[in-house]
Amino acid sequence: MQSCELCQDLWRKYGIATKIHVQLDNKLRFAALQDDHGLVQSLTMETEGAEQIRTDLREAIRKHEKSHSLAATQKQRATDSPK
Ligand SMILES: [Zn+2]
Repeated sequence: MQSCELCQDLWRKYGIATKIHVQLDNKLRFAALQDDHGLVQSLTMETEGAEQIRTDLREAIRKHEKSHSLAATQKQRATDSPK
């Protein structure tokens, strides 16, 4: 798979978003074990927000990688075309 600066940037952000999501999820589980309803409520919102960011980034990566393969296909066609 080809990668460019944008790919690397997106994957880096995705890595950070994943880490934050996992951390929040762990905190949420801990708050649930403690029966801390107020904390569970606020952490649930935060966790859902983090999950959304992660999903959005994954989608951005998918779209961006598609643009790579599309460019590769077009290049291939140009090379294949008879003279
Ligand atoms: Zn790229």
